[in-house]
Amino acid sequence: MENINWKDLSFGYIKTDYNVRAYYKDGKWSELEVTESEYLNIHIAATALHYGQEAFEGMKAYRGKDNKIRLFRWKENAKRMMNSARGIIMAEVPEELFRDAVFKAVKMNEKYVPPYDSGAALYIRPLLIGSGPEVGVRPSREYTFLVFVTPVGPYFKGGVKPVSMMICRDVDRAAPLGTGVYKVGGNYAASLRAIVRARDADYANAIFLDAKEKKYIDECGPANFFAIKDNTYITPKSDSILPSITNKSLVELAESMGMTVERRPVLYEELSEFDEVGACGTAAVISPIGKIFDPDTKKVFEYCKDGKPGKIQMKLYEMLTGIQKGDLPDTFGWITILD
Ligand SMILES: *Cc1c(COP(=O)(O)O)cnc(C)c1O
Repeated sequence: MENINWKDLSFGYIKTDYNVRAYYKDGKWSELEVTESEYLNIHIAATALHYGQEAFEGMKAYRGKDNKIRLFRWKENAKRMMNSARGIIMAEVPEELFRDAVFKAVKMNEKYVPPYDSGAALYIRPLLIGSGPEVGVRPSREYTFLVFVTPVGPYFKGGVKPVSMMICRDVDRAAPLGTGVYKVGGNYAASLRAIVRARDADYANAIFLDAKEKKYIDECGPANFFAIKDNTYITPKSDSILPSITNKSLVELAESMGMTVERRPVLYEELSEFDEVGACGTAAVISPIGKIFDPDTKKVFEYCKDGKPGKIQMKLYEMLTGIQKGDLPDTFGWITILD
């Protein structure tokens, strides 16, 4: 295994040995190509650069106690990338090509998959961009698909801790009929003003309200929002949020625990009624939220006043990460072991 201090890894980029690529031209995808280069040679008029034709995915591979490498629900990522491609009129990456590229990128960089007990994982980043030249506004005729991987440390060093977040009313990351449901870079560009402002004020992230009425909770920066009230798991239904695979899995786990699940518009006012709230996504799995500050009303919503994450979300967290690492049986059929 590589000489890396796994425990001190951050959630940043570290060079690995290979990445894999495929090219779409004349209506068809090329064979996969393996390269050691960290650079793309891209046309100066590529639509990704000018008109934002860019979609990506994020997933993690874990090494189990048995030393085997596990992928979590990769087909869901493949499907979502196809949906993102349709959303901004790009060539779709077929499921088999997505699988081959992801599996190959992980296997060729196997030595960078962190050991079981490190708490670290191999982050996998599939990327699809319009790479053909256009000057007028139209979809590219050529696309580049690539997958790179990079080892990332545990999101919370020294255990899961509640974070503070800030409500954001004066920036929208996505419009109701816009691209919020697609995992495209443009949404991230649109969210940066809010996220940077929240970070500068020492908050972990910004919570976006619905763009139209500013009455409902949409998302927490790059993660979905959920809340627990009594025995109910509540998560927003909205036309401008990204369908998180982590959230979908937490919903299924909550149901399996006998909890009620509500996927519905979540009013801002309800923040004062929840027992627990949190953000979820591949990076942290769950970030419990201890405090939400609203700079416009100066209201503060507080949860887990003892400083510890809520019990129900921690149970969900233990179950989900247990399945991902292979410590718990995969009763849902979510895991693919790479061999
Ligand atoms: C990727 C992403 C998420 C989390 O999705 P997962 O599939 O759980 O990783 C949530 N919100 C946004 C905006 C995202 O881009």
